[in-house]
Amino acid sequence: MSERVKGLNADIETLGLQFSLLLGSLRASGILDEGGCIHFNAVPVTSVVDGELLAKLCPDCDEQLPVHREGMTP
Ligand SMILES: [Zn+2]
Repeated sequence: MSERVKGLNADIETLGLQFSLLLGSLRASGILDEGGCIHFNAVPVTSVVDGELLAKLCPDCDEQLPVHREGMTP
């Protein structure tokens, strides 16, 4: 991984942290309720066999989210 990509990842992590803090304060002030999760912190769930992306899991609300796979029609 190049230094440039590392820096970019760090920026994205920082943005994500700031965004989750913002979401937390919005919830604390009652502007956004718990049901209004936008799954911003969703993490990919990959197969241990071939690394294929199976789904995404939101640590904030424990909801499993479907992923769009290439070559699949809805
Ligand atoms: Zn969520």
